[in-house]
Amino acid sequence: MATLDGLPPLRDVIQRHGLDAKKALGQNFLLDLNLTQKIARSAGPLQDATVFEVGPGPGGLTRAILSLGAKKVIAVERDSRCLPALAEIGEHYPGRLEVIEGDALKTDFAALAPEGPVKIIANLPYNVGTQLLINWLLPSPDRWPPFWESLTLMFQKEVGQRIVADEEDDHYGRLGVLAGWRTDAHMVFDVPPQAFTPPPKVTSTVVHLTPRQNPLPCDVAKLERVTHAAFGQRRKMLRQSVKSLGGEALLVKAGIDPARRAETLSVEEFVRLANCL
Ligand code: SAM
Repeated sequence: MATLDGLPPLRDVIQRHGLDAKKALGQNFLLDLNLTQKIARSAGPLQDATVFEVGPGPGGLTRAILSLGAKKVIAVERDSRCLPALAEIGEHYPGRLEVIEGDALKTDFAALAPEGPVKIIANLPYNVGTQLLINWLLPSPDRWPPFWESLTLMFQKEVGQRIVADEEDDHYGRLGVLAGWRTDAHMVFDVPPQAFTPPPKVTSTVVHLTPRQNPLPCDVAKLERVTHAAFGQRRKMLRQSVKSLGGEALLVKAGIDPARRAETLSVEEFVRLANCL
């Protein structure tokens, strides 16, 4: 059967290369090229961009990104079984796909970034997705704005809700403060379990993040200390939860009522608190 991009259907690719999904690698594949194109399109125009993809697997999302005209895709995949299937895509799009076999958690993406706009698009393995996002939000050495222009990432919906959460939201916590401080983050659309092979237990969601050009000045380590303490005891009043950091005196210095709770503080207030440490 013909496909949108003239390459074989993903189901055939998976069968031919024996790519039965491995749970330990968070392998839940997307086989519908209309859906992978919808995800890639949420990253905005790709024509001039280099796209980093984590975990291309059999290549459904990779094919979508290339068919939408990305200048180049640099994909990091841990499972060597996927490399022959990805090589076929590379032949179909000569010079536009570079595959790096390795662990994305150990990859220095900033060092690989070429001149020009870089976007990151991925259907992330769930076991490492949050850590990868944190690595992109807190690059080492710390440099902001970062090397990437946008992140378009698939997460479990519950993680997506934590990323985009504001104060007073049940999902608001350390991740929401970090993402809200440095980026403008929103959920794009949900993807039901049955869209994946094999289907995961929960609904997924695509999140799109763009870097704030001038986030409020703050020392990352201090911000982490206050959010760690405050959300460590999220139901307690702040005078209790941030006691080890200075308690009531610190809160008064920052102009924050010590009787408030962590989940009521805006990102700006957390930054103020961190800056008073
Ligand atoms: N992009 C494909 C798709 O949408 O169908 C596959 C997505 S699947 C959810 C996650 C992929 O990430 C798998 O191909 C898996 O082998 C790969 N992976 C898992 N852990 C990884 C890691 N630490 N570094 C790079 N790739 C990893």
